[in-house]
Amino acid sequence: MTPIPPGHAHHFAIADLPGPADLLADSELLAQFTGAASDGCATCQARLLTRLIGDSLTLARLIELACAITGLALGGLPSSLTSPSAPGLASPEFRQLARAGRGAANNRMLAECQRMTTDQRRRAAETATDLLLGFLGFEAAAPARASR
Ligand SMILES: [Zn+2]
Repeated sequence: MTPIPPGHAHHFAIADLPGPADLLADSELLAQFTGAASDGCATCQARLLTRLIGDSLTLARLIELACAITGLALGGLPSSLTSPSAPGLASPEFRQLARAGRGAANNRMLAECQRMTTDQRRRAAETATDLLLGFLGFEAAAPARASR
């Protein structure tokens, strides 16, 4: 593992939020990744994202967290996060995983993660990160996206 550069020990205790026992994620990696995102450190976020998408259990946990927190904030997941055809900014890959995981079907969602290519995993993780940044109220905004 590459050593963490000085001043880049990002940590956000998101991994401490209760999670399903069937997703044995790397909680330290998740805490570092969400920490880098909340600190607005693009360098670390990119480096940690590459590790995260190579670990399908941890990616599944990230997706599960994004769905759980969004569901809490909005009282359920809107179709723009689950339907392949509803207008919205969520990547098709995130929607696919959110659909698979509905009803706490985390193992089904994990299986979908494992079938995805690296690029697909990356696009799913990017939407999950945008949602987490938005709903946890981090100051660092997600990268600017084209408006709808
Ligand atoms: Zn950093």
